[in-house]
Amino acid sequence: MAKIFCVANQKGGVGKTTTTVNLSAGLAKLNQRVLLVDLDPQGNATMGAGINKAGLAASTYEVLLGSADVASARQRSESGRFDVLPANRELAGAEVEMVELDNREKRLKDALALVDQDYDFILIDCPPALSMLTLNGLCAAHGVIIPMQCEYYALEGLSDLVNTIKKVHANLNQDLKIIGLLRVMFDPRMTLSQQVSAQLEQHFGDKVFKTIIPRNVRLAEAPSYGMPGVSFDPSSKGAQAYIAFGAEMVARIKTM
Ligand code: ATP
Ligand code: MG
Repeated sequence: MAKIFCVANQKGGVGKTTTTVNLSAGLAKLNQRVLLVDLDPQGNATMGAGINKAGLAASTYEVLLGSADVASARQRSESGRFDVLPANRELAGAEVEMVELDNREKRLKDALALVDQDYDFILIDCPPALSMLTLNGLCAAHGVIIPMQCEYYALEGLSDLVNTIKKVHANLNQDLKIIGLLRVMFDPRMTLSQQVSAQLEQHFGDKVFKTIIPRNVRLAEAPSYGMPGVSFDPSSKGAQAYIAFGAEMVARIKTM
């Protein structure tokens, strides 16, 4: 049975997609079978995995609305060696169209149940909002990975996310927990980064992943080549960090 994780933070541009794509590729390097679900109409994870988001025959949109199943909509990321349920801007329409449907928060969960046996990990890239799409992600998942930058405003908004996760846990998905906070785009030369990082460890203890993802330009360049950073430049510091994070996740699920 696959372990399913949402990569979520309603703040924009904090490294959700970079984390989802590179953790997928890192886990694939560790011989894990991975499905990446793009749950963001921006389709950044789809592109970053090397799949053209224009003119998809089937996508997360069709899966949520029930006109396609995951098995027929998924594609292979050749560069990352994982499967992708791709998305594009059409997915924005699902937000509105799902309102009419029964069981609307659990449509992704039900769709993923049919391919559960094919994977060790299913990673869901959430949009920067606490929307019906994100709610579908949270209802489908066993846990949430929260990427954050170690900056002054990092903790602002975290309480909204934590409260949403608590509500979903109480009302919709008892399996859901916060797996951990992932420090990303870390710059060890900045005193502020060091301070915020130490504060996070103090406040959240075990809930802070040991692995720290550094700011690394190779991770930012890779999407323009349609490749995860982990495959684009495997020896770069960013790639190495995501591979280490993959190993930390493999170890973590053994204790879940
Ligand atoms: P959105 O909220 O729009 O979905 P996001 O949270 O998914 O954004 P990303 O798209 O992953 O964030 O990252 C935002 C920008 O920061 C991108 O340009 C990405 O290439 C860059 N970036 C992410 N992580 C790193 C890193 N470790 N080092 C350097 N650049 C990074
Ligand atoms: Mg994103």
